[in-house]
This record gives sequence, structure tokens and C-alpha cells, in this order.
Amino acid sequence: MSEVLPTIFFGHGNPMNAVTNNRYTEAWRKIGRQIAKPKAILSISAHWFVSGTGITVSTAPRTIHDFGGFPRELYQVRYPAPGDPDLARRVQQMLAPLPVVLDDSWGLDHGTWSVLAHVYPEAEIPVVQLSIDEGQPGFFHFEVGRKLAPLREEGILIVGSGNLVHNLHAYAWGRQMPDPYDWAIRFETEAKQRMLASEYKSLINYESLGPEAILSVPTPDHYLPLLYVLGTRQEGESIHFPVEGVDGGSISMLTVQVG
Ligand code: ZN
Repeated sequence: MSEVLPTIFFGHGNPMNAVTNNRYTEAWRKIGRQIAKPKAILSISAHWFVSGTGITVSTAPRTIHDFGGFPRELYQVRYPAPGDPDLARRVQQMLAPLPVVLDDSWGLDHGTWSVLAHVYPEAEIPVVQLSIDEGQPGFFHFEVGRKLAPLREEGILIVGSGNLVHNLHAYAWGRQMPDPYDWAIRFETEAKQRMLASEYKSLINYESLGPEAILSVPTPDHYLPLLYVLGTRQEGESIHFPVEGVDGGSISMLTVQVG
């Protein structure tokens, strides 16, 4: 039996991280070197936030450039990892009776490839993406993570990609990097404490955590991948934060590793 793999939530931040070397991307590379090599990766990205639950089933998922106004070099990035249709079907079975559509139209969006381009630069490990159902409450996403946890014992690396704090209205695009906003730090600190204490209920109902939460999570898309990752955590299992920092004042680059 292979060893139980960790589950990781990556704060992906600016898409330009895909083609940049900075302290975040260097830390992502280090994670790839440190953990046991997975047989395949199941990625839950903030950028596949749709109605219903789908899973990519293509043997050669396309690289999706799902952003606008960035330099040409970012549009030239390809992440040619193979797909894994068997894993897609396995996930479909594990989540039954929830209907999961085997999807041949999506591929790998930048929430997935901007991070994996550093964690696994050779793109040799098969990758499957699971969509986030935009119509479902926090508990649903946590439960999906819980149901998928046994995959960790089968050599599958479950990855969530989003940002714990993600407020683009407050983000300093191209300006000098400001200090993080107080509300961003307060929410991040509180969320970390609650993760360490396994206080999931408040994290699932994050709106209850006050005005800092509303400013930090103005829309749920970048936050929800974290709930899948927390859902995979077993009782007594370690949780730590191998990457920390706030980009542009209002984007938390926190990485959360379970196990
Ligand atoms: Zn994003």
C-alpha cells in the first residue's frame, strides 16, 4: 500500500506567478520535491465555478487561459499533463448518488496550472479537475472533500487552488506593494487558528466570522477549495502552513497542508 498523501490548498494569487520566480513559487517547488510522488492529481480550482459538479475525463486536457489583459508569454504557457479517465470515473462513483458529469470540454485552468507548473514542472503526473458547484453551501463542499479522502491512500494528491483572502477591488494592480490590509490579516489569523483547532463549523459558515470575512471573501469561489481540503483531514492529523504572505494588500498566498 502506498503511503497516505497530504492534501494541499494553494493560494495561487496572480496568474503571472506561473511564469515568475518569487518566494511563493520557490516554496511551491520545494513542496513538490518534499512530498511522495503522486500517481495522479485531483485539482479543485476556484476558476471552475459552475452550476453542477463536473469532472474532466479527457486523456489530454487542454491548457485554458482563463484571464484577460496579461502579457503574451502567459498565453503561451502550456501544461501538457495527461488526464486520467479512470480516476474521473472513480470520483464519480465515490460521490454517488450526487450526479457528477464526465466533462470533455473543460481542461486545466490557471488555478491548476499556474501552481502545478512549479510543483511538478515536468507535467508528467496525470491531472483531473473537479468543478465547484456554485449553487451549493459551504457544507456541501466540505462533505465532498470528506468523501474523497480515501483517494489519499491510493496515491492521489488532492489539491485545492484559490485564495483564503481574495479581494480584487482592494488589490494593488501594478502599484507599489502596500502593506496587507488589517482586515485581511485579522481574517487570515482567525482562520488559521480555527484550522489548527479543527473548528470547521465556523470556517464552513465563514460569513458568520464578521466584517473581516465579508471583505476577505466577497465571493466564495476562491475560498471554497479550502473546504474540500479541510474535509479530507483525519482526526488528529497535522495541519500546517508551508507558504505565507499577502500579495498586493488583499490576496492571501497562504498554503494549507493537511498531513
Ligand atoms: Zn484565481
